[in-house]
Amino acid sequence: MGLSEEQRALVGTVRDFTRREVAPVASAMDRADAYPADLVGRMRELGFFGATISEEYGGSGAGAETYALLIEELAKGWMSLAGVLNTHLLVAHMIEVSGAPEQRERFLPAMARGERRAALCITEPDAGTDVAAIKTRAVRDGDDYVVNGRKQFITNARSASVYAIVCKTDETADPPRRGISLLLGEKRPGLNVTRDIPKLGYHGVETCEVAFEDYRTPATNLLGGVEGEGFRQVMGGLELGRINVAARAVGVARAALEAAARYAQERRTFGKPIAEHQAIQQKLADMATQVKAAHLLTMDAARKKDRGERADLDAGMAKLFASETCLTVATEAMRIHGGVGYTQDLPVERYFRDAPLMIIGEGTNEIQRQVIARSLLRNYPSGDFLFEAGL
Ligand SMILES: Cc1cc2nc3c(=O)[nH]c(=O)nc-3n(C[C@H](O)[C@H](O)[C@H](O)COP(=O)(O)OP(=O)(O)OC[C@H]3O[C@@H](n4cnc5c(N)ncnc54)[C@H](O)[C@@H]3O)c2cc1C
Repeated sequence: MGLSEEQRALVGTVRDFTRREVAPVASAMDRADAYPADLVGRMRELGFFGATISEEYGGSGAGAETYALLIEELAKGWMSLAGVLNTHLLVAHMIEVSGAPEQRERFLPAMARGERRAALCITEPDAGTDVAAIKTRAVRDGDDYVVNGRKQFITNARSASVYAIVCKTDETADPPRRGISLLLGEKRPGLNVTRDIPKLGYHGVETCEVAFEDYRTPATNLLGGVEGEGFRQVMGGLELGRINVAARAVGVARAALEAAARYAQERRTFGKPIAEHQAIQQKLADMATQVKAAHLLTMDAARKKDRGERADLDAGMAKLFASETCLTVATEAMRIHGGVGYTQDLPVERYFRDAPLMIIGEGTNEIQRQVIARSLLRNYPSGDFLFEAGL
């Protein structure tokens, strides 16, 4: 794959960590559904919370490709841990790209050390895919903004100390997205985590409802210092978010494929390992081919982003294909395991429960398809985007 020595070293560190410290406890921790404070502490020590933050602010300055490799390995051990990193590094990315120099100095070093962790508050009870329909309002009052509204499905809501709050500063703006701003907030009165939302999988990670009631944050916390830029700032960050979700999906799919391949060689029916039955071989061949394609698409999108090129089409394709692959491969892995695949004795049932999140997170796959089609038609009306984009 042509990895640099630095990338190889990082992948080695993550692989070591997940093999020794994560994989042995992941299923039990998933069942307990408790926040994995010790593992998060180890991720902090290993510098994961600063992975993509520039060295200038104390991070490792890893590009999207290296980041995707890290996430893939981590998710192979336990997808939830990769989720803890995602919104934190997304918010850091937004601050680094769009923040004023003073904001970068104030937030990024502590975030790179993992001392302060971030939550991204976009989704609301009445607005998910349709971000421009959010109702949370921020009104300027002297040197502060006063925020009122409710957010839903907020990852890291309890353990975060930096909140990127997507809100309306101008409710009359046309189109409505031009009235959206991004405020950085800290934990103080008026910000209340009101509920932990129980989930099918992705256990251990906080997914919460957050209420803002006359919550004050200084006007100096308006990202970039300009109102109406929030929608653009968030959408810019989602490119990296989609690469993260694609890499998570590849990680879970790899874990499911490995489990299935091992089990197929151990389990015997009709006098031979099930791996020698053609039906099982066909499944394994399809699974492996899809996993490799998903990995390559993800790496390709990440490299394009690292070259400074616009990668929304590529990140969307990677996220779409990798997440659908993950769902298929996790299901097939369970089928290969027969009855035992349906039990909590083996981790395949966890892969099966974790997989559907990736078809929803960072934009559902229905929206992904729209982003892909729109970008294709706008930029490559001939449809031959592979040739036109230089293959
Ligand atoms: C575990 C978990 C963690 C999350 N973490 C965060 C977080 O940290 N921060 C945050 O802000 N959000 C978070 N989310 C929210 C997530 O981003 C949204 O759930 C997602 O964007 C979809 O929004 P929705 O649930 O409101 O679905 P809706 O927007 O109501 O969509 C419902 C259905 O309609 C489809 N649909 C909607 N519009 C269209 C269209 N134009 N064309 C075709 N189909 C359409 C969708 O694809 C979907 O199938 C999280 C969600 C989960 C489940």
